[in-house]
Amino acid sequence: MTTRRTNPKVDAVIVGFGWAGSLMAAELSRANMNVVAIDRGPWRDTFPDTPLTADPDELRWKTRRELLAPPHDTTLTMRNTLDQTAVPQRDFGISELGGGVGGQGFQWAGMAWRFNPWDFRVRSETIERYGMARAEDGELQLQDWGITYAELEPDYDRWEQIAGVAGQAGNLRGKLTSRGNPFEGPRSREYPTPKLKTLRMMEIFNKATSEMGLHPFTIPCANVSQAYVNPLGVTMAPCTYCGFCSSYGCGNYSKASPQTCVFPALLNNNPNFRLITNACVTRVNKAADGKSVTGVTYIDQNGSEVLQPADIICLTAFQMENVRLMLLSGIGKPYDPLTSEGVVGRNFSFQTVSGADLWFEEDHINPFIGAGGLGSQIDDYNSDNFDHSSLDFIGGAGILTLSRDGTPIANANKLPPGTPRWGSGFKRAYSNYYQNYGVLFNQGTSMPIKRGYLDLDPTYKDPFGLPLLRLTYDYARNDRAMATFTMNRAIQIGKRMGASQFSAFNFAEKPFTTAIGASNHTIGGAVMGADPTSSAVNSYLQSWDCHNVFVVGASAFPNNGGYNPTGTVGALALRAARAICGNYARKPGALQKG
Ligand SMILES: Cc1cc2nc3c(=O)[nH]c(=O)nc-3n(C[C@H](O)[C@H](O)[C@H](O)COP(=O)(O)OP(=O)(O)OC[C@H]3O[C@@H](n4cnc5c(N)ncnc54)[C@H](O)[C@@H]3O)c2cc1C
Ligand code: SF4
Repeated sequence: MTTRRTNPKVDAVIVGFGWAGSLMAAELSRANMNVVAIDRGPWRDTFPDTPLTADPDELRWKTRRELLAPPHDTTLTMRNTLDQTAVPQRDFGISELGGGVGGQGFQWAGMAWRFNPWDFRVRSETIERYGMARAEDGELQLQDWGITYAELEPDYDRWEQIAGVAGQAGNLRGKLTSRGNPFEGPRSREYPTPKLKTLRMMEIFNKATSEMGLHPFTIPCANVSQAYVNPLGVTMAPCTYCGFCSSYGCGNYSKASPQTCVFPALLNNNPNFRLITNACVTRVNKAADGKSVTGVTYIDQNGSEVLQPADIICLTAFQMENVRLMLLSGIGKPYDPLTSEGVVGRNFSFQTVSGADLWFEEDHINPFIGAGGLGSQIDDYNSDNFDHSSLDFIGGAGILTLSRDGTPIANANKLPPGTPRWGSGFKRAYSNYYQNYGVLFNQGTSMPIKRGYLDLDPTYKDPFGLPLLRLTYDYARNDRAMATFTMNRAIQIGKRMGASQFSAFNFAEKPFTTAIGASNHTIGGAVMGADPTSSAVNSYLQSWDCHNVFVVGASAFPNNGGYNPTGTVGALALRAARAICGNYARKPGALQKG
């Protein structure tokens, strides 16, 4: 580290410029605040990085993950239990971090969910419906979010408008409709664009699940179905179902991303905003009073240490790095898994995934036609939508089938059990089953446990000499039971769909590892709540410890829903921004709900 210099002071500094950071930067600068965003990665945009003319080269984007951050820059250490020694991880299926501005949002798939109202009140609802013993089984650490679905609904709505989400309401202001998801929370209005087309695999799923008395619907997704102008004045074009979507940039401006939906409004001729790239924030600097902070320290691309003073700090560096920066900066009391005291690092969870691979004999699925978020789902076995009285778990999973990613390299692994892995037998099977393969994917809830947490590793350090984050986690007994239950439901559905062969899978039956490609949805570590002894931030994502620090991302989720997280991350970012521009700007200090 060489020169130490200080930048001019600003109203707010945003640490990390993905969905959460760019949404907050846009809202704060629109309210005339002077904002600086700092991102570890380089500048990245549709042009020149992934225009329509860029080859959707599977080897480059999906296999070699060219848009992702290399693990050697972002690794952490991991162990399953407290008595093990954690070691650095090199293979990240659980958290494929973005390698440039826009974060993961540049190459995400686009499933654009709201969480179920139950997810926000898991503890209270479980006690009310099944009794205290179910909520406190000795292993689980359930806690409510300090906010209800209804309170977050306006922010969900605004996020969907910004992203242009394509969907069909199932619950419009309390009135259920049969064409959408009847289990969703009440929506104040329809989705901004109509749902995408129903493709062949979805047709088979919809027919089978309807015949079983279940309730299939099209997954809401941020792959827009028609030309659309969002509230920030940005134009999007209709999706062409090109199929190379998740892990790729969208050259067509159809997949919502920070680049497509937010950057143009934020970056064009905006004197209130400045973006600093290739700059890694290493610390939030506390004030002498210990109750507020004065700015951040970052290392720029020349290796120089720079101070960025600001009145407000927003940590939007993704769930893991948000927690690490709090621990490195001494913001909030670190969590102790032996006593359950302390808040920073608490309630790390993943997502509990099971399902079944299906192969059909006659049906041609045409998997090369699709969009990143496109598929059908049933929520009959998700959240608390079914009676758990006679079951030994809480929660559930959205059971879905996808119409996306007929990518020839990745799909070469998707062959029925017993198929030769090379030679003419392999070639024959692959040329047959490439067309006829489908998956039922159970995206399950994850309940927090006392021994699942994040802290700083005592041994291993990053290139700046700072401790790596250490993850201690394994699946809860509750979640293992849930995954087995939903896996068996997927087998029943697969049979009804007419699959000639199927192979069930359950990621939760083995010990947790960071390598599994089950989902990208790690959560917790700086959870929100109404009680400062069990949460790191309040319902505006404001640190209980330092009132001018807002910690925004899936780090705030106390438990994971049976859905992808980004709709909820976006809504929470907009809620935090609203609180800053409104009440906090007028009267800095701890925000009170109401
Ligand atoms: C392949 C893939 C598919 C996905 N599909 C879906 C989906 O269908 N639906 C869904 O809801 N979610 C999906 N996700 C997850 C989704 O992309 C993330 O939930 C979302 O993008 C997280 O946004 P974020 O702003 O919190 O974090 P990020 O997007 O990770 O942004 C964080 C930013 O902070 C920067 N940063 C990190 N540390 C520092 C530091 N110390 N200093 C400065 N900058 C820093 C990073 O460079 C990055 O730009 C997917 C993810 C991937 C990878
Ligand atoms: S499937 Fe649609 S949203 Fe996805 S990359 Fe292709 S055109 Fe874009």
